[in-house]
Amino acid sequence: MTFINNTAKKSTNKILGDNKTDNELKELTDVYIKKISKKYKIYPKKIYYRKMKTKWASCSNNKNITINTLLRYLPEKNIQYVLYHELTHIKEKKHNKRFWGIVSKEFPNYKKMENDLFTYWFLTQQKLD
Ligand SMILES: [Zn+2]
Repeated sequence: MTFINNTAKKSTNKILGDNKTDNELKELTDVYIKKISKKYKIYPKKIYYRKMKTKWASCSNNKNITINTLLRYLPEKNIQYVLYHELTHIKEKKHNKRFWGIVSKEFPNYKKMENDLFTYWFLTQQKLD
């Protein structure tokens, strides 16, 4: 049992090797959100950061975005995808055709990105405690 657990932990740490500090994550998200805001004229009101147990990010009705700090374990490209996905929700609340149309402008490979996030979700769960 212990052996399996240790092996699983080792391989997880290898995959999640790209580990940023909270400040590095904030800086990275700040720069990217500004870039996207300018490019697509999408303006979030406020950005919040906290550890979340059910999602990577969320967008409120009044255009506030909350970012899960567990994202710091993910590669930059995947973080950017989460941010762009959430910013798109300012324009379109639902995951409908219009929504994915906007997402695919910046991420034509959004299906792969969504799948990656699903995998990373399980990998980062042990970082919660
Ligand atoms: Zn969404």
